[in-house]
Amino acid sequence: MTVICRFAPSPTGRLHVGNVRTALMNWLFVREKRGKFILRIDDTDIVRSTDAYELGIKEDLNWLGMGWDYTFNQSKRFSRYKALAENLKKDGLLYPCYETSEELDRQRKLQRVQGKPPVYNRAGLELTNAQKLAFENAGRKPHWRFKLSGETVNWNDMVRGNQSVDTSSLSDPVLIRGDGTFLYTLPSVVDDIDENITHVIRGEDHVTNSGAQIEVFKALSDRIPIFAHTPLLVGKDGKGLSKRLGSLSMEQLKSQGLEPLAICSLLSKIGTSDSIEPRFSMSVLSSEFSFSKIGRAPARFDDTELEMLNGKFLTDLPYENIKPKLLELGITDSKDFWELIRNNILKINEAVLWYDIIFKEVQGQINASDKDFCFGAAEMLPSDITDNTWLEWTNELKVKYNRKGRDLFMPLRQALTGLNKGPEMAKLIILLGSDKAKARLKNFSA
Ligand code: GLU
Repeated sequence: MTVICRFAPSPTGRLHVGNVRTALMNWLFVREKRGKFILRIDDTDIVRSTDAYELGIKEDLNWLGMGWDYTFNQSKRFSRYKALAENLKKDGLLYPCYETSEELDRQRKLQRVQGKPPVYNRAGLELTNAQKLAFENAGRKPHWRFKLSGETVNWNDMVRGNQSVDTSSLSDPVLIRGDGTFLYTLPSVVDDIDENITHVIRGEDHVTNSGAQIEVFKALSDRIPIFAHTPLLVGKDGKGLSKRLGSLSMEQLKSQGLEPLAICSLLSKIGTSDSIEPRFSMSVLSSEFSFSKIGRAPARFDDTELEMLNGKFLTDLPYENIKPKLLELGITDSKDFWELIRNNILKINEAVLWYDIIFKEVQGQINASDKDFCFGAAEMLPSDITDNTWLEWTNELKVKYNRKGRDLFMPLRQALTGLNKGPEMAKLIILLGSDKAKARLKNFSA
């Protein structure tokens, strides 16, 4: 059996860490099983869906390294959904209801007051043809509900184990709105059937949905996919991320300079039994992926952890992979420069700061009381700087000025880089060169 999975975003926004994690679970699983990955664009909501978001989602997936075997739009398949809806109507499984949303609201309020669950009362099922006609003549358009069996639906979830949803506790789901448009439930099932989807992998907010959808599957097909519902992502404080998702979009993370593989490493490992380490290819991530490693607790996403992992990813990445990234930032090939700064940056664009400090004009900033010391240091700096220069030079300065520790080193760092911390000075001063170092030791603002 070929594994076929789909990732089904709605093009009503860009991808964020939450839906990228769902995409990853599908993609990594498919890759590991040598199956097919389908990108389904859930654009049945034609008002909120835009082409720009669809393009953005595709750009995000490509950037992350998650290509697809096939893509299609639900908005192109309305006639298919209609045809199958007609079949359900013929079978008496899709029935018209004429309540307005205000009436339904009132009904639910009443049920709540009576201490009953707010489940639809199935009044639509009781209507005679004459009553339906009367509603139609009064200008009401029906919405259509799927008739649930009232039985318990069971499945073996790849993450959650044995699951059961008692459909008698659910309202018959509306599949078609009064204006004739489809809600998500039916198109998703129809597509999963037509595309021979073998595994439906999605967030656990869809568990109840799955209970109802399995009944729709049963009504339309003799095959039901295997389900995996993954725990949702929460922030490090344990709270939902919904309010922050805009700032956690791939568009944002990319513009901040985060690496796609660092993002994929983190999102595929949090909430699993694996340790969180950067990986350098998607195929390694897929070979390590298994549903059995995913825990039931929500996965905690922490921006700081992502930055740290990104830094570790860059530090461990071979120089030949770093070179093109630096070139993109306008930094010409310099392995020494990279060796110097690799442990001091968390994102590749921070290399620009150090490049400018080392290769462009920078004015140091020191305390007025360190002025003479820095002037003297400039005089004592040899014109040829080698690996030992820093040690020898600072040893001489130590004796001559009777300074040690912070008093000795900080003014030099401040005059030479303009900053209080950064890469190893013994190496930095080699790249800086003697002339520039001397000039900075004499030309600072104090
Ligand atoms: N468009 C749906 C969503 O983003 C897809 C859910 C599913 O995978 O079935 O929630």
